[in-house]
Amino acid sequence: MDFKLSTRRADGVQIVDVAGRITAGDAVAAFRQAIRDEIANGNNKILVNLKDVSYIDSSGLGELIMALGTVTQTICASCGATVFKDEDGNWDTCSQCESKERKTWGQMKISNPGRQVTDLLQFTKLYAVFDVHQSEQEALASFSISR
Ligand SMILES: [Zn+2]
Repeated sequence: MDFKLSTRRADGVQIVDVAGRITAGDAVAAFRQAIRDEIANGNNKILVNLKDVSYIDSSGLGELIMALGTVTQTICASCGATVFKDEDGNWDTCSQCESKERKTWGQMKISNPGRQVTDLLQFTKLYAVFDVHQSEQEALASFSISR
């Protein structure tokens, strides 16, 4: 399997370096686990560095979307429980503490997408959904200082 993943930390941001091909199977599973681990460890600023990724298939793209949704999920501002929308699309009050205050759990950004990944993101109109940066430096600077 031509896939590698490692993590490092810079400026309070957890950087997930991915290399090779993010395709269905081991690569997608490894990426999913890495994001879960970061979330479990409370790392709410995650930068996915795609610099050395040569190819992402639809499964890999789906996993990136899942990761974004998980990291940026809406939580109760008081107790941190996940809050959901009701069937009408309105936010429920927190089931744990009844609070109506909400916030986003974390931030996830992408840096250094290669040609194929950029084309894929643009073709699927996901380029704007992800916060994509051309360099790691620029991406790190874009994370808000606030916690
Ligand atoms: Zn709550």
